[in-house]
Amino acid sequence: MNKRKNFIAGNWKMNGTLDTISEISKIDKLSEGYEGDIALCLPNTIISKANENISHKKLLIGAQNCHHEESGAYTGDVSAKMLKDAGAKVIIVGHSERRQIYKETNEIISKKAESIINSDLLTIICIGETEEEKNMGLTSTTVCTQLKNSMPSISNETNTVVAYEPIWAIGTGRIPSLKEIEVVHKELRSLVSKIKGIDTANKMRFLYGGSVKPNNARDIFDLTDVDGALIGGASLKSDDFMGIINVC
Ligand code: PEP
Repeated sequence: MNKRKNFIAGNWKMNGTLDTISEISKIDKLSEGYEGDIALCLPNTIISKANENISHKKLLIGAQNCHHEESGAYTGDVSAKMLKDAGAKVIIVGHSERRQIYKETNEIISKKAESIINSDLLTIICIGETEEEKNMGLTSTTVCTQLKNSMPSISNETNTVVAYEPIWAIGTGRIPSLKEIEVVHKELRSLVSKIKGIDTANKMRFLYGGSVKPNNARDIFDLTDVDGALIGGASLKSDDFMGIINVC
C-alpha cells in the first residue's frame, strides 16, 4: 500500500477581505510543522496579498473556480493562468455550489480541471450526491458518474485531488456514517483504478468534505481511504482550522 501524504484544504467561499489576511498569517505560522499538505482556497481578490503575507514553507494559497479558457471575451471571468499569476497553487473545481447555482456540468468541470493542470497547478475536483439521491440509493452511481466525467484524461496523482462532499452535509452539521464515507471512498478509488490503473489509484488523494469540525475529524481521518478533508466553515477561523489539522 502506498503511503499518501495527507491534504487539508480550506474553502473560504465568498468570505474574506484584506482585513482577514491576519487570520491567514496565523494559519501559516501554526501550520509550519505539519507534515501533510495544507491549502486555503480564497476569494480571488485576496490571493495576491495572502501570498505576500505567508512564509511559503507549508501553506498553499488557492482559488475556488476558474474559466476553462486561458483568455478572451469572457466578462467577469478569470483563467487558471491568471490565478497562477496572482499566486494560486491550487484551484477547486466542481464544488456543489458551482454545480447547483451556476449549473456547471461534468463536461465543463473537466475542461476547467484540464486548464488548471495545463497551467501546472493542482486541481481539487469535487463530487457529491444530493440528499434525494442518497435516499434513493443513488450515492454510488451519482458520484462515480460525476468523477468519471469530470476528471480529464491528463489527471494523475500529482496534479489532481478528489473531494467527496455529500451536498446534504455541507454547512449542515450532518455527516454520513463513517461506514458510508469509507464505502464511497473505496468505490471512488476503485473507479480510478479502472480508469487510470492501480498505481495511480493507490497514490491519488481522496478528501472528505461536509461539516468537518475539530470534534469529528479524527474518526474521519482514521478511515483507510480518506486522505484528508475539504473544509468550509471551519477553515475561516484559525483556531478551528488548526484544531482539525492537529488531529490529522
Ligand atoms: C464546503 O463548502 O466545501 C464544505 C465542506 O463546507 P462545510 O465544511 O462548512 O460543511
